[in-house]
Amino acid sequence: QNTPTKLSNTYLEKVIKDNSSYLNQGKVADYIPELAKANSQAISVCVLGPKGVIYKAGDYKEKFTVQSISKLIALMIAVEDWGEEKVFERVGYYGTSLAFNEFAHLETMPTPLNPMMNAGALVTTAMIKGEGDEGYQRILERIRYITNNNTIKINQAVYLSEKETGHRNRGMFHLLKNKELIDKDEEALNNYFKQCSIEIDTEDLAKIAYFFANECTRFDGDNKYKNSSISELLLSQMLTAGMYDYSGAYSRKIGIPSKSGVGGGIIAADPKTGYGIAVFSPALDSHGNSLIGSKILEDLSNKLGISLFKK
Ligand code: GLN
Repeated sequence: QNTPTKLSNTYLEKVIKDNSSYLNQGKVADYIPELAKANSQAISVCVLGPKGVIYKAGDYKEKFTVQSISKLIALMIAVEDWGEEKVFERVGYYGTSLAFNEFAHLETMPTPLNPMMNAGALVTTAMIKGEGDEGYQRILERIRYITNNNTIKINQAVYLSEKETGHRNRGMFHLLKNKELIDKDEEALNNYFKQCSIEIDTEDLAKIAYFFANECTRFDGDNKYKNSSISELLLSQMLTAGMYDYSGAYSRKIGIPSKSGVGGGIIAADPKTGYGIAVFSPALDSHGNSLIGSKILEDLSNKLGISLFKK
């Protein structure tokens, strides 16, 4: 593998510079009003490799909300609670040509297409065992464990903003209750809004990517949650649906299991080299993925030759 030799902070700085001309092409999410306040000029990248080697560049101290990246953690815990088979009776393994917040398919399909789209994630979050906000607390605890950072917390303003304006998610939640795929009350919907509003920086995000690239082993070697079956499931979901309707083209171009969030973060987990990569830039493309984030990952994948599909 040529990954370790080429990488350095300077190298990552250059990758950011090479891609910064795309800044004006993206647009910060504003359908959640609080997200519109993000610094649209911010860009950062962080690469975490085996034995704790870490490279970082750009605005990696900037905080942002994890948004849909939390869907991986919700799926992980739901599968721990119920087993994969039971969870996938309520969500599908399908890829998608549909937007992340699409719900018309719920009229013709028995379940949401996959747990990476909002409809599927509302189901997995509601499946997490526990009363009230316990489902959310378990997601927060898991993120704190994976990053070994107990200071990680919710961005209350983003949560309240999502809760107030998330009519589409609320509608979906009730449609899913109507289909008997969700059997909890709106507290479970709030848990979904809360998990999306967990605030993180790029370095901690790279630790999450590392965790999934390494069979759910933590960056410092702690293996309390080591589980290759769950990491295989999550990586396959990332590859087929993690970038929503861009996933197919993204797989061809970048070839690393990835998950985006409308906060501007993307994680890319490479099980071949064990590298976890996180990028952040809040200006999004038309699919709701960080525009520069994808460009940087494309650059890194090509230059380092780390697509899963390359020999
Ligand atoms: N909280 C966001 C929503 O529900 C998450 C979407 C995303 O990150 N793609 O719309």
